[in-house]
Amino acid sequence: MSRRGGRAGEEHDQVRETGPLDRVAGAHDAAVLAVARRGEPVARTGLAEELQVTPQAISKILARLMERGLMAEAGSYSAGPGKPTTLYRIVPGSRRALGLHLTRSRVHGVVTDLTGEVLERRTDEIDPGLPVPALVDALAASARELAGHGEGELLGLGVGTPGPVDPVEGVLHGSSPADVWSGAGIRDLLLAALDMPVLVDHDSRAALVGESWSQPGLLDDAALVLAEDGLGAALRLGAAIVHGAHARAGEVGHTVVRMGGRPCPCGRRGCAEAEFLGALAEGDDAAAAEVLATVVLNLVRLVDVDRVVLGGRSLYTHHAVMMDTIRAALEEGLRAGARVHVEVLLSTRGVDLIAAGAACEVLEHEYGLPTALVGPGAG
Ligand SMILES: [Zn+2]
Repeated sequence: MSRRGGRAGEEHDQVRETGPLDRVAGAHDAAVLAVARRGEPVARTGLAEELQVTPQAISKILARLMERGLMAEAGSYSAGPGKPTTLYRIVPGSRRALGLHLTRSRVHGVVTDLTGEVLERRTDEIDPGLPVPALVDALAASARELAGHGEGELLGLGVGTPGPVDPVEGVLHGSSPADVWSGAGIRDLLLAALDMPVLVDHDSRAALVGESWSQPGLLDDAALVLAEDGLGAALRLGAAIVHGAHARAGEVGHTVVRMGGRPCPCGRRGCAEAEFLGALAEGDDAAAAEVLATVVLNLVRLVDVDRVVLGGRSLYTHHAVMMDTIRAALEEGLRAGARVHVEVLLSTRGVDLIAAGAACEVLEHEYGLPTALVGPGAG
C-alpha cells in the first residue's frame, strides 16, 4: 500500500492495475481492521499515516467497514479550533467464530467475537477409540451448542488438533495406520453436518494465529511453542504463518536434543518430546525445562524470531521454572549476538489457547491480511 497523491479515485486506479478488486480492497480493509483490533479508537488521519494511504482512501475503507457493521463511529474530539475529529472503533460483537480443540480425551470448544475474545466455552469428555461418525457427532453437537451463545454473524468453525493432520484437505492422519481416526476427513464431514465453513489445523498453528490475532503486529516474526501431551511449535515469519512443503513446519517435538537419549514412539532416540515428557513423568521439572530451553534456543537460532510465546497444559503447571530456564538459556545462548533480543511470553489464554486460536483462524481467513493466506508453502 503506498501513498498515491491526494485524489480520492487514486486508490481504485491502483486496484485495477494490480489485481482483482475484492482481494486488494480486502487487503486495505484488513489493514484498517488490524489497527482497530488493538482496541483503541482510531482517527482517519492516524490510519492514513500508519497505513500510508490517503485520508480519502481511508474514508472509503471506513465507510465499507461500517456498512458491513465491522466498525462504528466512537465519538469525536476537538484538538483546537476547526472541525472535531471523528473516532472509529471495531465492533467486537458484529461477528463470531467457533473453535474446537480436539484431543484424544476431550473436546474443548469456544465461541469468540471478532476480536478473538471468548464469549462462552464448554468441555466434553470423549472416548479415545470413538469411531469417526460418533466423533463427528460429538464435535458437531459441541459446535451447535456454542453457536447459541452471543450475537453477530457466525463465520464458521475452526478445529485445532495435535498432528499429524492435513490442513489443506482437513484430514486427520492419526497416530498410526491402525488408529480409528486415521484418514478421517473431519473437515468435510463437519461441513456436511453443520453447513458452515470449517478449517482444520495443527494445534500449535491454531494457537499462534490466535495469539497474533489478539495482538496485531506484535507477533509478525514469532514462534509459539506448545507443550500439551506432546511438544510442537508454529512459526510466523514476515507476518505469514509458515506451513512448509508438507504442512509440517515447526515440528520440533521430533528434533533430537540428546544423542542416544530416551526412546521415542517415532522410532528414534533423544527426541525433544520424549526427553521433555520423560523428565516431567519423573517429576524432574528442571530437566524438562532444560529440554524446552534447548528447543526454544535452537528455534530462535534457526529462524530468527523476536518473540517466543509459550503455552499448553504441560507448561502452565510448571510455568515459573520453565520461563526462568528458557529466559536464562536465551540470554546465555544469544550473548554473542549482542543486538539480538528475544522476548519470551507466556500465553494468557490458558485452557482456551487452542480452541480460541482455531476460532481466530476462521476470523483471520475472513479478515486477515492476505499475506497470512499466501505465506511460504501455503499454496
Ligand atoms: Zn521422536
